[in-house]
Amino acid sequence: MSRHAKNSSSSGRLFTRRRLIKSAGAAAAAASVGAVALSRAQAAQEAVPADAIIIGAGYAGATVARELAERGLKPVVLEARDRVGGRVWTNTWAGEEIEIGGSWLGPQQELAHAELSRYNIGTFQDVAAERVVMPGNNGLVTVSPADAAATVDPLWESFYEGSAQYFERPHEPLYRSDLLADVDPLSLQDRLDQLSLSPTELEILNGETSIYSGGPSTIGSLTGMAQWIQLAGGTYQDYLTTMSLRPEGGMIAILNAMLDEAQANVRLNTAVTGITEQNGKVTVTCSGGGQFTAPVVVVAVPVNTWKSITFNPGLPTAHARASSEGIGVPHATKVWLQIKGNVPATQGMAREGTPLPMLIPQQQTAEGRLMIGFAGPSLNVNDASAVQDAVRTYLPNATLVRYRAMEWAKQQYTKGGWGLRRPNQLLSLFPAIEEPHGRIVFAGADIARGWHGAFIEGAIESGLRAAGQAAELA
Ligand SMILES: Cc1cc2nc3c(=O)[nH]c(=O)nc-3n(C[C@H](O)[C@H](O)[C@H](O)COP(=O)(O)OP(=O)(O)OC[C@H]3O[C@@H](n4cnc5c(N)ncnc54)[C@H](O)[C@@H]3O)c2cc1C
Repeated sequence: MSRHAKNSSSSGRLFTRRRLIKSAGAAAAAASVGAVALSRAQAAQEAVPADAIIIGAGYAGATVARELAERGLKPVVLEARDRVGGRVWTNTWAGEEIEIGGSWLGPQQELAHAELSRYNIGTFQDVAAERVVMPGNNGLVTVSPADAAATVDPLWESFYEGSAQYFERPHEPLYRSDLLADVDPLSLQDRLDQLSLSPTELEILNGETSIYSGGPSTIGSLTGMAQWIQLAGGTYQDYLTTMSLRPEGGMIAILNAMLDEAQANVRLNTAVTGITEQNGKVTVTCSGGGQFTAPVVVVAVPVNTWKSITFNPGLPTAHARASSEGIGVPHATKVWLQIKGNVPATQGMAREGTPLPMLIPQQQTAEGRLMIGFAGPSLNVNDASAVQDAVRTYLPNATLVRYRAMEWAKQQYTKGGWGLRRPNQLLSLFPAIEEPHGRIVFAGADIARGWHGAFIEGAIESGLRAAGQAAELA
């Protein structure tokens, strides 16, 4: 990863030959009028030029960097964190490679697969569940995956009924906007309320709708999740395949390959605080006072963090609305668990409000079974005994060897988890949210037209769109 990082103090690396000549001329002119040497603080304020500035080195920003480099442009990428990847973070824990953020790809995600082919990166199938613990009429019951599917699939089918019509072309979500007016205002909870579900059936569905919503099921929109289902192929089983494949080398592998190909100039630890467009150029100010200028800027940071950047001129209506409402969900806590001994590959699902509504089996190691839990707001992940108790709701005799929790929504440079559009956002934000604001272009999975929010596929899609717009403005 550090291969891509350039020392943030060595700004000379940024200069193209043309710009070096220009700035050398400017320096000579300053000397000729008797200018004294700039103080360190003044030097930091000097705007360093680039062909384009990309803010954020997640999948969207990396896609833009690769695409602009392919067009012969030399962008600079400003990344607030000390690593690239953003909501993708491949790491090592318990001696194993783990994903702290995004983990899986689906076979139908064509853009990600085109990148895998481009960089000759293979995939492998993730661990399949051997059994499922899920809501029954008298508490949780343990069943085979086939029996679970026989119960769960028809419920989701009724939940998503009609979505094949209102998302007739799921990659063009507004294609049947005439049908969307009635459904886009609905939250996931509204949809659950429309169905005549028994208490057990409700518990089977609302654990998942609450996890995707990042809190109560009132947060996420029906059209957000329904679009994912239609993009996946139309059934819940199709959707489950989006959590089946893992890239060799981790989820970060494609992104690193993109930045390598772009020979990207990535400045780590460089948080942007302000963006000002004036006289046909854009100036970006960073938290340390450093400035960069370019004919175009691509904002590829999570929508929930837009409010920590001062835009001048201010954001247009759709962007301001997205920023104030948020798209990244307000609670997204992924917990890696290692459970002692030989433990069957157990999938767990439980009702909204429980500490750990979703449990996904991972590999068996010598010390125990790894599992991923998606926690609800009621789990205090700083309390090891609470985490163990939460696991015991599924596996009563489980002993937790260790765990590692990541609370994505609390991170300064995310301020939310994966994205899921809120009710009404599809019709109120699109297509305006995809448009540049003068010389400022926007990218990111949160605002993808297709696989929005919870998929790197959407980040790549929006990066491709933004790169085309930025190239025209550069
Ligand atoms: C827990 C979790 C599980 C997920 N599971 C999956 C999955 O299984 N499969 C899948 O495909 N997707 C998954 N996702 C979603 C996927 O990770 C994201 O959709 C995708 O990575 C977002 O990419 P992005 O480039 O739009 O944004 P980000 O990855 O968030 O990148 C934005 C970058 O901008 C930087 N930044 C923020 N503010 C500033 C600033 N002011 N100045 C400079 N830089 C800044 C950030 O540090 C970050 O690096 C998951 C996400 C989470 C959180």
